[in-house]
Amino acid sequence: MRAALAWHESPEHSQGWDLHTHTVFSDGQCTPSEAIELAKNAGIAGIALTDHDSAQGWSEAEKRARELNMPLIRGTEITAEWGHTSVHMLAWLYDPTNEALAELFRTTRINRVRRTKKMVEMMGKKYPITWEDVLKQAGGTAQTTIGRPHIADTLVAKGLFATRSEAFLGPVSSKSEFYLPVISPQVDEVITIVKDAGGVVAIAHAGSFARNKEILSDQDIRHFADLGLDALEVWHRENSPEQRVRLLKLASRLGLLATGGSDWHGPHGKPNLLGENLTDPQTLQAIVTRGVLPVVE
Ligand code: AMP
Ligand code: ZN
Ligand code: FE
Ligand code: FE
Repeated sequence: MRAALAWHESPEHSQGWDLHTHTVFSDGQCTPSEAIELAKNAGIAGIALTDHDSAQGWSEAEKRARELNMPLIRGTEITAEWGHTSVHMLAWLYDPTNEALAELFRTTRINRVRRTKKMVEMMGKKYPITWEDVLKQAGGTAQTTIGRPHIADTLVAKGLFATRSEAFLGPVSSKSEFYLPVISPQVDEVITIVKDAGGVVAIAHAGSFARNKEILSDQDIRHFADLGLDALEVWHRENSPEQRVRLLKLASRLGLLATGGSDWHGPHGKPNLLGENLTDPQTLQAIVTRGVLPVVE
C-alpha cells in the first residue's frame, strides 16, 4: 500500500498523466488550446480533457495537441446519481458518434439549463443577478455546459464575492437554500452506455464528501465493478488519506484501475493545480488498451 501512496513523490512523476481537467467548454477558465500548452510546459506525460457532460472541446484540443506533440486523451466528466448521492464519472476514449451518449449529453444539457435557471430565479430575490448575467458569464450556452460555477462567477463579477470558491461557500453551496440538484442519469445506466460506446469509465473523486453527505458504499462499488466499471479516481485532492487507502484496497480487491487527476479548472476556477495528481504509466497503458479511440499524439 505504501509504495502506491508514494508514487506521486517519486521521480517518475513526469511520466504521469493528468486524467481530469476542465476548459471553457464547461466551467474551466482556459481554452482547450491553453490547457494543452500549459500541460506541455508543466512537463507532464499527457493530459485528458474531461469537460462536464460534453465532447465539444475535443476538436480544438486535438488540433493543438498534434501541433505541440502533446499526448491527449479525449474524455468527459459525466454527471450521474445513485440514491441520494451525486456521482461524477470520467469517461475516456469512447466513440463520439455513439448516439446513446450524444442523447445523454443533450438531455443533461436541457436539465442543467432548467435547474440552473431556477436557482438563479430563486437567488435573484436576495442577490441582484439575472439569468442573462449568468449566460454572459458562461459565454452563451450553445457550446458551454452551464452550472453553478457560472452563477458563482456572476456573483464575483457583481462584486458580491471575492472569488468563485467563496461564492461556493455561500449561496452557491450544495447546502444552501437555493440549491437544486441536476436531474441526472443513474450510475449503472452511464456505465452501460460508456462501455457500449467503447469507452473506459471511472468514478471520479469517489471518496469526496464535497457535494454529498453520503458517498458510495463498498457494496455500491462492487455492483458497478460487476457491471463493467473500469476504475476509481483515487488520487484527487478531495479524497482524504483514509479514503485513498479504502479506495486502493477496494480497487485491488475488485480488479479496478486506480487513477489520478487534478480536476483543474484554470487559474481562478478552483485552487487545483494542473498536474497536481497524476495517473501512473502502467495504469495509463491499461486504459489506452481498453478504449476504442486512440491517444492523440
Ligand atoms: P454543478 O455541476 O452545476 O452542480 O456545479 C458543481 C461543479 O462546480 C463541480 O463539478 C465542481 O467541480 C465545480 N466547481 C468549479 N469551480 C468550483 C469552485 N471554485 N468550488 C467548488 N466547485 C467548483
Ligand atoms: Zn467542473
Ligand atoms: Fe467532479
Ligand atoms: Fe471535474
